[in-house]
Amino acid sequence: MLRLPATILHETIRQLATCGAGDCECMMFWVGSVDDPESVVEWVHPAHHRSPYGCEIDGEWLNRYWFELADNRHSLRAQIHTHPGLAFHSPTDDQWPVVSQPGFISIVVPYFGAGPVDMNAYWVGILHENGRWLRADPSSVMEITHEKAT
Ligand SMILES: [Zn+2]
Repeated sequence: MLRLPATILHETIRQLATCGAGDCECMMFWVGSVDDPESVVEWVHPAHHRSPYGCEIDGEWLNRYWFELADNRHSLRAQIHTHPGLAFHSPTDDQWPVVSQPGFISIVVPYFGAGPVDMNAYWVGILHENGRWLRADPSSVMEITHEKAT
């Protein structure tokens, strides 16, 4: 169960909506401490390209970022990205998660993040050991907290 500070959730959705500007998909990551696997301590907006397949992370940025994560003893907890319309996990989303580790969470936000911030309006899935994404009830995988992000 992730402990997700409400401030991080709100900033993430705002950033998705701002970057996408109503016509472009965007992706964000939630980052936690290696020493506390349920923590979310910050969001990251990766360098990405607009592509016919949606939002494609810049490979060079990602290579550098893995080192930064390791240096800070951080790891990626979840990827959050927008879709133009309804929230669902597309075949491309299924095939190309940034992290292919069981337990990794993927969240799809509809309408380029333009709607109200509401976890129940998003598609939330967890990567299982067999490589498949299983849709999950948001409240079963994360708890929204009002603690200050550190
Ligand atoms: Zn973006």
